[in-house]
Amino acid sequence: MTQDNSQMELSVVVPLLNEQENLHPLYDQITGALDGRYEYEIIFVDDGSTDGSFDLLKEFHESNSRVRVLRFRRNFGQTAAMSAGFTHARGQVIIPMDADLQNDPADIPMLLGKLDEGYDVVSGWRKERHDNAVTRLLPSKMANWVISKITGVQLHDYGCTLKAYRREILAETKLYGEMHRFIPALASWSGARIAECVVNHRPRTAGVAKYGLGRTWKVILDLITVKFLGSFSTKPIHIFGALGGFTGLFAFLFGALVISQKLNSGTDMSGNPLFILTAVLMLATIQFIMMGLLAELLVRTYHESQNRPTYVVKEVLDTSNRQGESR
Ligand code: UDP
Ligand code: MG
Repeated sequence: MTQDNSQMELSVVVPLLNEQENLHPLYDQITGALDGRYEYEIIFVDDGSTDGSFDLLKEFHESNSRVRVLRFRRNFGQTAAMSAGFTHARGQVIIPMDADLQNDPADIPMLLGKLDEGYDVVSGWRKERHDNAVTRLLPSKMANWVISKITGVQLHDYGCTLKAYRREILAETKLYGEMHRFIPALASWSGARIAECVVNHRPRTAGVAKYGLGRTWKVILDLITVKFLGSFSTKPIHIFGALGGFTGLFAFLFGALVISQKLNSGTDMSGNPLFILTAVLMLATIQFIMMGLLAELLVRTYHESQNRPTYVVKEVLDTSNRQGESR
């Protein structure tokens, strides 16, 4: 993150791709909701738009010093655009939102109010969603259920872009793939307090939706990655070892069965399918354990080369260390 400008209360981060019809109303709504109430900035991240979006953003920037614009050289995706916006944000609170007018800037004061009740992340919940039932609502319902179960962080709407984060929550997160939606889960694992707030959601009236069903599978893959990194990244041998233990146990049982069949009823070992299964399971066991050991090496390289501790310190009370470790 760039310099910590403590005057700046709020950074609104808007990733966008080809949204020229929506930008004027969006700009008016954001300034309308925030002007005179907060010390804020709007960071538009143009994710490689090929329509007139960038020219509009340039106009906003020229007429309003609160508007900052980042322009990607090509389309890198919504998560990358958000991540770039977070890096440049100077506000104490950072609020990402979509540029297609589906999120309502008028909800921002409510999110901030909730944050002030003592939370680190407030996540928007589009209780009444106006999107396509088959390609969006159904997969999203299932995805939210699966994500809540797997991450252990219960939210109704992981996919809602409109959320509010305290700056220090985002300082540590690195975003890849479709991962921006998992920030609340990552934050909660590091000890952040998470709240949910029902927000307004409107149908898209201009421009085209950028995603289809294909996103769901990517989200699931990212979920596996996030879960793995969150739970096992400091002890991968435990998960690979458990899998290896499982296959090893069955290899042993089937192996014993094959031998007893041979001894008791003279069953031909080489023609016995259980024999092949035993061999495959033995190989799998060796593979899993070796994979676990390799992963242990990688994890050590990762944490030690980047000086990344395996824990997160919130505060240090220590008179001999006046400089403190606060960021
Ligand atoms: N977007 C982006 N880069 C992309 C795809 C989408 O910056 O590669 C932006 C898009 O302009 C919009 C937001 O991400 O502001 C959400 O996209 P969309 O409305 O298509 O998807 P939804 O999440 O509503 O299904
Ligand atoms: Mg949308």
